[in-house]
Amino acid sequence: MKCAALLAGGGRGQRHGGTIPKQYQMLDGMPVFRRTLMAFLDHPAVDTVLAVIGAEAADLFAMASDGLEVRAVTGGASRTASVRAGLEALAEDPPDLVLVHDAARPFVSAGLISRLIAAANQERGAAPGLAPADALKRLRGGDLAGGDIERRGLVQVQTPQVFPFRALHAAYARLPASADLPDDIAVARAAGLECTIIEGEAGNFKITRPGDLQRGAALLRQRKATATVSATGFDVHRLVPGEAMMLCGVRVAEGLALHGHSDADVALHALTDALLGSIGAGDIGAHFPPGESRWKDADSARFLRKALDLLAAEGARLVHADLTIMGERPRIGPYRGAMRAHLSAMLGLPLRHVSLKATTTEGLGFLGRGEGLACLASVSVNCPLDQDQAVS
Ligand code: MG
Repeated sequence: MKCAALLAGGGRGQRHGGTIPKQYQMLDGMPVFRRTLMAFLDHPAVDTVLAVIGAEAADLFAMASDGLEVRAVTGGASRTASVRAGLEALAEDPPDLVLVHDAARPFVSAGLISRLIAAANQERGAAPGLAPADALKRLRGGDLAGGDIERRGLVQVQTPQVFPFRALHAAYARLPASADLPDDIAVARAAGLECTIIEGEAGNFKITRPGDLQRGAALLRQRKATATVSATGFDVHRLVPGEAMMLCGVRVAEGLALHGHSDADVALHALTDALLGSIGAGDIGAHFPPGESRWKDADSARFLRKALDLLAAEGARLVHADLTIMGERPRIGPYRGAMRAHLSAMLGLPLRHVSLKATTTEGLGFLGRGEGLACLASVSVNCPLDQDQAVS
């Protein structure tokens, strides 16, 4: 599936203060826009990145994107017009999905991008949302006469907003030239295209108001105060005759199956346990009890995603995964490329940080007799330091 990111950076918003548009301001030594571009360029599932920029911002953008593989087109007077211009440019070589994102949200995480791509399909879009944390009141004539607004059922919607490209392109094409809608969901819904809201990230805020750049810089400082933790996970499943097995999320049809309550993907189980180990979050059995019928034949990718979500919630970031599969059969070699690519996409890691090895036990033991398959997974995870640890 081909994914394109469209970064809307045409705004001239200077509400944050300063003399140049917020997306070109420096954030810890790097323009905001460059950080946003890199978040998408670094993501393994994103194939192209297109920036939509203001007519007078060509020089600023050239500086911000120096050395990066990114195309830019000039936007229009409104966000709607700018996104439309970007979609027109992408239509020359249409992707399957388009991720429309604000250039001024530089902290979008790889995990969030992965989850959004997984949640969207050819019929529905997907966008991140957060429930409002504060009490909401309606002002009327400068006082609170408008009363309280029920928070339940409300959501603050962020970007990236991900849509099937053809449907969003068609929805924009139908709008009158002067249309100015708040976001892409509004455009999509006006054309009958629905959108799934998934949990957003508080860190994925938009640099808009005075103080947001300082908040961003503080976040970066905090992110830098990390320790690299390593953790391992180990799993074994019994080999039985069967049509195929799932291994590293890839179907391996070699006349062998793995026996287990879920789909028994021994590699994803070991990897899930390693991830849980990196944040001290117990083991896979504690989160997904094998006695529960709902996990029967479950796709083990669910377990892995849950572990990744737990890491994200802790502010921890997986940086490297190394798997060793142990057993006589099946041969891993023919599947290694597909398995690494699949793991890379699931984990949001570049290929070079996804290692997959295979070994036999020289005919010794239950593995040597071909009775089972084992996997040892080792992960390196950048974990934020607690404030007191960071100081000492
Ligand atoms: Mg298992």
